[in-house]
Amino acid sequence: MTDSDKAANEPGSNAAPSNFIRNLIAQDLESGKHGGRVHTRFPPEPNGYLHIGHAKSICLNFTVAEENQGYCNLRFDDTNPAKESQEFVDSIKDNIRWLGFEWHGEVRFSSDYFEELYNFAVQLIEQGKAYVCSLSPDQAREYRGTLTEPGKNSPDRDRTIEDNLDLFSRMKAGEFEDGTYSLRARIDMASPNINMRDPVLYRIRHIEHHQTGSAWCIYPTYDYTHCISDAIEGITHSLCTLEFEDHRPLYNWILENLELESIRKVSDLADSNYDYVLPEQTEFAKLKLNYTVMGKRNLRAMVEDGTVAGWDDPRMPTLSGLRRRGFTPASIRNFCESVGVSRSESVVDLSMLEFAIRDDLDKNAARAMCVLNPLKVLISNVDSEMELEMANHPKEESFGRRLVPFGREVYIDRSDFEEVPPPGFKRLVAGGEVRLRGCYVIRCDEVVKDASGQIVQLNCSADLDTLGKSPEGRKVKGVIHWVSATRGVPATVRLYDRLFNVEKPESKEVEDYHSVLNPESLQVIEGAVVEPSVLAQGSPMSFQFEREGYFCKDCVEHSDEKPVFNRTITLRDSWQS
Ligand code: ATP
Ligand code: MG
Repeated sequence: MTDSDKAANEPGSNAAPSNFIRNLIAQDLESGKHGGRVHTRFPPEPNGYLHIGHAKSICLNFTVAEENQGYCNLRFDDTNPAKESQEFVDSIKDNIRWLGFEWHGEVRFSSDYFEELYNFAVQLIEQGKAYVCSLSPDQAREYRGTLTEPGKNSPDRDRTIEDNLDLFSRMKAGEFEDGTYSLRARIDMASPNINMRDPVLYRIRHIEHHQTGSAWCIYPTYDYTHCISDAIEGITHSLCTLEFEDHRPLYNWILENLELESIRKVSDLADSNYDYVLPEQTEFAKLKLNYTVMGKRNLRAMVEDGTVAGWDDPRMPTLSGLRRRGFTPASIRNFCESVGVSRSESVVDLSMLEFAIRDDLDKNAARAMCVLNPLKVLISNVDSEMELEMANHPKEESFGRRLVPFGREVYIDRSDFEEVPPPGFKRLVAGGEVRLRGCYVIRCDEVVKDASGQIVQLNCSADLDTLGKSPEGRKVKGVIHWVSATRGVPATVRLYDRLFNVEKPESKEVEDYHSVLNPESLQVIEGAVVEPSVLAQGSPMSFQFEREGYFCKDCVEHSDEKPVFNRTITLRDSWQS
């Protein structure tokens, strides 16, 4: 362990914990490998909303740059226009800013480099390192071989450079149908690494692109585009997830087979004094969470088949969903830091993410009262309306105090009264006493029922000598929350829980994710009542509703006229086995 690692791991230290990427960058800075620069990028494909896994990559890329006075670009990897859209571009930008990061300079798109990418492809053809292939996609698959068998050379592999140049320019000009030709790198059909068996660099696709419109009908592949885009942007450390490890030889092959000076000339470093050095790819393990579906394909299916209400449904692991659920940027950043960065795949327990938001809201959310399932209580010896002062936070004076209206009629939660109390029940029972939080001790004198036997009201009396002090001569253990029946505001409250009730909803054993949905992932309560301070001007978005959990105003549907609260998380972990 180096000294800086030790310092970082000391309790109470503000320095971020070390990980192999931080160590690698520190070494590279020390050796001057990339001219002493750190320049990373986050390269999402705009084919869906970002999820919590992406947050790990965002936090890593942006923080290692920030920590080393470097830069982090945002680059949309937009080489597959069929699945991409501007909606996804906008949501991704919005999510990154919400997390608290700002990219360096303008937003980049791989499609910004289509012209350069084309010219580099011509350069590879001219050197005999790429050829136009006429195998159909099915034939190409057959020629590729398998993990145990080498592939076969394409019959077009030895086409002349002139013919390749001619065909490639005609592919670009739109002379051919989709799937008739492709441009392939000329590497090695017998390579043990299938990615190196003459991979496709360009495909014909007559399709509109969300950024370039109808300017192109050939589109470069991800592998071809990614390394060159990194090189053009002067990226030093290209950080990606482990599934790209086997693509690294191709990443390097493409860059090494282009003339370095020709890349430098079109790069962001063209006019700088830095030595031009190629980027290097380093892989880390993806974040996986139990009880959670993370693949964009599945997330998209859940949106499209109505399993959830949209990409920002508060049960979704998307950043938009988590935000709507009431997660804060700090909680997500803390979570990403706490799971660490390594090269070994592991599944993180969802309770770690839940811990992060509970921890943040415990410190940072104001307290208030909300009765989810109201039962009217009439306090016979109180006949004036008053306002009681209460602290907004039990530990933090800086949260200030608020006035909570109280009067003859209040609501308590139905579950806080029992006619036949189970053993150990400390709340209200007929003839018994309980304290209303921050208010008087009351006694239940009479239980009022309707014709069907349903309890409709409790007639109580208050011990008027118990405001801020214990009752004389007896102990009252229970404390319950309440809301004024005359001044409380009706609200809709949505109780969210985990969307899946199995640990691995994406495992092969699960044929259809519908069969493992948690039927209780959403419960809507229409008749809740909140204290008015929650809706006062300038009031925060998030609260701890005492004894119920952490809640936030729904950022889409809440209004002061029609309050809607989402439960972010319960007060305690109820899933712990
Ligand atoms: P998915 O597999 O969920 O569809 P993806 O990898 O196709 O995601 P991209 O938009 O290509 O999504 O990802 C952008 C970046 O985020 C990539 O560098 C990718 O490696 C990284 N990333 C994606 N998922 C995770 C994850 N679960 N943990 C960490 N990083 C991730
Ligand atoms: Mg991807």
